[in-house]
Amino acid sequence: MSKTVASLRNCFFCGKHIVTGQGTMLAKNDGSIQWTCSDKCKKNLRKLKRDPRKLKWTQKYVKGGIRVKK
Ligand SMILES: [Zn+2]
Repeated sequence: MSKTVASLRNCFFCGKHIVTGQGTMLAKNDGSIQWTCSDKCKKNLRKLKRDPRKLKWTQKYVKGGIRVKK
């Protein structure tokens, strides 16, 4: 159990792997940390507040729409 956390980082928005040394870290007020791989993801996440599951270019895209159950 001595894996390097930095190499296992994935983009919070699109879900793609982030190369170590790249990407942007976003620290939220509640203490959670979100990594984004590019300015594009950062913009969509922060400014546009888009749902990655609705965007086809992300790996989180859900085909046919999102099911919200709770
Ligand atoms: Zn991304």
